[in-house]
Order: sequence, then C-alpha cells, then structure tokens
Amino acid sequence: MEKLIITVATTGAMTTKENTPYLATQPEQIAEEVFMAYQAGASVAHIHVRTSEDKATMDMERFRETVGLVREKCDIIINMTSSGGLGFSDEERIAPHVELKPDMGTFDAGSMNFYKGIFLNPPPFLEKLGAAYIENGIKPEVEVFDAGMVWNAKRLLKDGFLKAPIHWQCCLQVHGGMEGTPKNLLHLVESLPEGSTWSAFGCGPTALPISTMAIHMGGHVRVGMEDNVYLTKGVLAKHNYEFIERIQRLAREFERPVANVAEARAILGLPPKK
Ligand code: ZN
Repeated sequence: MEKLIITVATTGAMTTKENTPYLATQPEQIAEEVFMAYQAGASVAHIHVRTSEDKATMDMERFRETVGLVREKCDIIINMTSSGGLGFSDEERIAPHVELKPDMGTFDAGSMNFYKGIFLNPPPFLEKLGAAYIENGIKPEVEVFDAGMVWNAKRLLKDGFLKAPIHWQCCLQVHGGMEGTPKNLLHLVESLPEGSTWSAFGCGPTALPISTMAIHMGGHVRVGMEDNVYLTKGVLAKHNYEFIERIQRLAREFERPVANVAEARAILGLPPKK
C-alpha cells in the first residue's frame, strides 16, 4: 500500500463557534492550526476562510493572507476550497485559485441538497472550473457526496475538463449526500476509475469508522473540525492535531506509514515544490 496522506480540514464553511469554541476562523488561527497539524503529520491543508465575524466567505484577501501565513510556517500542500459555502458566484469561487495558484483545489462533482439549502455545481460551472485548474496547474480534488457524482466526473474527464489520474475525496455523512456507512464507502471506491488515488471522511460520529476503513483499504484520510468537532463522545477537540495524532496511532496499528509532504506530492503527482 502507498503511504498514508493525512489532510487537515480545520475550518470549513458550516462549523460554527456554537458547535465548538475551539474553531479557528481568523487567518493567524487557521495558519497556527495547520502548522500544528503539519507537525503532527498532516501533509495537505484543506483551506476555507471566514470574515472577521466568522462568516463563510470566498474573499480573495482572506485567502491571500491565510495561505501566505501557512506558507511562511511550512511547506504543507495547499488545497483551497472552491465552494466556500453556499451562494457564491462562479467568479468568486474561481478567482482566488487563479490568483493564488494553490497546489490543489476542490472540485465538487455535482449539485445536491446541502443542509437547508442547495449546493449548486452545474455543468457549465464545472467546465469553467476544470479548465481554470488545468490552465493554472492546479490539481483538482474531486469531491463526491453521492454516487452519481463519480459518473459526472468521469464524463468531465472524457470531455477534457479533468485529467487522469484523478484524486477523489469521498465525502460522507454530509447532509444532502450519502450516509457515512461502510457499504457506501465501498460502493464509491469500487466505482472509481483505475489508477485513481482517493481519500475519505465521514462527518460527525462516522469520522472515526470511515477513517479506519480508508486506512485499511489503501485510501487516504481527511480529518479536522470542518467535518467533526468531537474527539470522543461529548469531548470536544481543542486542536485539529489531536485528530491527526489519533490517525497516527491507527496507522501504526495497521502498519501503514504516514506520508511526509514530499511523499504525498509524489503520490498525488504534484511537482516536487511549488
Ligand atoms: Zn471544505
């Protein structure tokens, strides 16, 4: 099996300070959380930003500041969201990537209900986003929340808006998508084209079982307060690195070594340094 890539997702768009007072929302806090996760073994940072009032945003300057601070601290692979929450325009979703050229960017391969709203990713947007990623040398992380999204992405691959091999993120137990069950993860992974790399997460109480399955199946894992705020039942994590440490313990038991940044770059087909 390949070495295990651990992605840290510190913030997201939906987690609130009511969910956990430990949520990092400001650029310095996010950068510090990412750095601590990097020191604990994360090789990819999935980045969202918030306004000074902690609201989800796709504001270019917030991304510039946050990514700049992370890059000052460490060489972790930067994976920026291209959704940022609900209701942002195509331009707002794509512009930060074109400007800042992160190593990776998310690519949500279909539309779906999302909590109380609708997460819109219609084909014209995905074609624009895919073309922008190719033009700017950004590796997409194709996020699938539902099995139909795998087929959507396969068609976009055939039409030249994505390039093989695809790196997938199986996003489970997100309201509006697939439940975080073992069967659902198996089904998604069995549907991926040969040569793909993949990672998985389950939100809330499915986080630990889905991570464990991914380690065992040869996938990679994503952890952090974007997806889950509890370390154990009723006990909030104070820092994201606590989730990384748990993955390190599991990986040791499974005898699956954890990838450093250079090894993660090689697995993901990223250039040695950007
Ligand atoms: Zn995200």
